[in-house]
Amino acid sequence: MNATPPKINPPGWWLPGIILAATFLGVAVLVYFFNPATHAFYPECQFHRLTGLNCPGCGMTRAVYALLHGNLTAAWRDNALLLGGSFFLALRAGWFGWNKLRGRRNGEFFPAKHLWVLLVVALVFTVLRNLPAFAFLSP
Ligand SMILES: [Zn+2]
Repeated sequence: MNATPPKINPPGWWLPGIILAATFLGVAVLVYFFNPATHAFYPECQFHRLTGLNCPGCGMTRAVYALLHGNLTAAWRDNALLLGGSFFLALRAGWFGWNKLRGRRNGEFFPAKHLWVLLVVALVFTVLRNLPAFAFLSP
């Protein structure tokens, strides 16, 4: 009789990854079929409501809608940060895929130190889009 307990594998990255992917897909389907410009059930930006200023996320839902419908001009107009971020994310994913095809090792997809870069870019974007000279960055 074998007294060794059965080996239980810890849940790896796949479960949170699947939940995250399903959430993104669900939101994308919702935004694709219900235009944020014509449906009022989307949450209002509380920062904008309280201050009258645009946060880095203002216009993002409309930008996602435009992006999902292939309208890059409208996506840029609604939230340039989303369009630029999507571009760099696609480049990074392409680089990872290319390395995988060539059998090379990939590092972290999004290293923690890059969060600081993202934070600085978001702060600069927020300041600029609230200045009259950069009104084209406002949704
Ligand atoms: Zn906002």
